[in-house]
Amino acid sequence: MEILVNPPTVKGPAEWFTGDVWFDVVAAPPAPSRLRVNVVRFAPGSCTFWHRHGSGQMLRVTEGTARVGARDGTVIEVHPGESLWTPPGEWHWHGAGPESFMTHLAMWESGDGLAPDAEWAERVSEEQYRGARSDDRPGGGASPERETSR
Ligand code: MN
Repeated sequence: MEILVNPPTVKGPAEWFTGDVWFDVVAAPPAPSRLRVNVVRFAPGSCTFWHRHGSGQMLRVTEGTARVGARDGTVIEVHPGESLWTPPGEWHWHGAGPESFMTHLAMWESGDGLAPDAEWAERVSEEQYRGARSDDRPGGGASPERETSR
């Protein structure tokens, strides 16, 4: 066994994230392990681009309130202590609300014989971030107001 040296914190690349996002690799042990865990920190108003995971991904929100959007226009909020599963192949995005930081753990599997970790697409628009359908649902959904630019 060995205690590992933590790799440096990485800035989320501009082709995958809107706004300031930083992540730390918590677990990426060598094969045959497929375990992958990152801590991802989102600045207010920041979020991922649209993407999907080949083997799915589990998110656990640890701080702040997450916004998670789906292709049908729904935007839901996920709170600290709650977990969200995004099934293999399901397009989605996730990020912070407009006014506060959000941190989540991202957990997935990666390795030979598995589908690609993630496939990335376009940036999330302002309308998508606000959640066009949030008023249609009981309980409201994400806040419609968002003043800051991303
Ligand atoms: Mn995801």
